[in-house]
Amino acid sequence: MPLVILDCDGVLVDSERITTNLLATMATELGWPVTPAQSIEQFKGRDLHEIRDLLEHKTGTTLGDEFITRYRARMVERFERQGVPPIEGAADLLDWLDDAEITHAVASNAPHKKMQLTLGTIDRSRWANGWFGRFEGRRFSAYEIQRWKPDPALFLHAAAQMGSEPAASIVVEDSTSGVEAAVAAGMRVIALADLTSPDTLAAAGATEVCRSMPEVADLLRRWID
Ligand SMILES: [Mg+2]
Repeated sequence: MPLVILDCDGVLVDSERITTNLLATMATELGWPVTPAQSIEQFKGRDLHEIRDLLEHKTGTTLGDEFITRYRARMVERFERQGVPPIEGAADLLDWLDDAEITHAVASNAPHKKMQLTLGTIDRSRWANGWFGRFEGRRFSAYEIQRWKPDPALFLHAAAQMGSEPAASIVVEDSTSGVEAAVAAGMRVIALADLTSPDTLAAAGATEVCRSMPEVADLLRRWID
């Protein structure tokens, strides 16, 4: 049985624009001028501890856990103010996966709490707790195992929990770190090129690169049918 493992930020929810802009602002405030475009390149898909370490290195300051607390508070504030819409086409993809009875899960570098904040606001009329509830029992966070993409551990953990083999698993990712993790896990990976360029995702090892969610869905249909 095939398993489809979906990344959360940038694949299901359009949160990366908000978080990469916030990280650009915070890096610049700390004395390392980073533009939103550079922020995508430097930070997207990375885990927050790694980002904090990089900021400490670049600015020569000790930020510690206080930085993470401060970042999360500002992130929540921006999510609430701006709203976090689903990625265009993600709703149709999920409905098709459900209708075709294709096992699927979400696996994120972010904590469950952040998934609750983003997924939890979508389609609340159909599911209690929105898409967060929709993925009940099929949500995996790198925080559970304390290993983050590009480490393959999270995808391997998700496949094992869902009772699937890596070779039968297909990952959908939008970041280089996620593509690298899937490749290292021995899984096929479809990259959705939005904020990160198709060339960068292909160079990271993506099996195929798509420009839109309907394209991702078509490819999955061909691979699975
Ligand atoms: Mg992502």
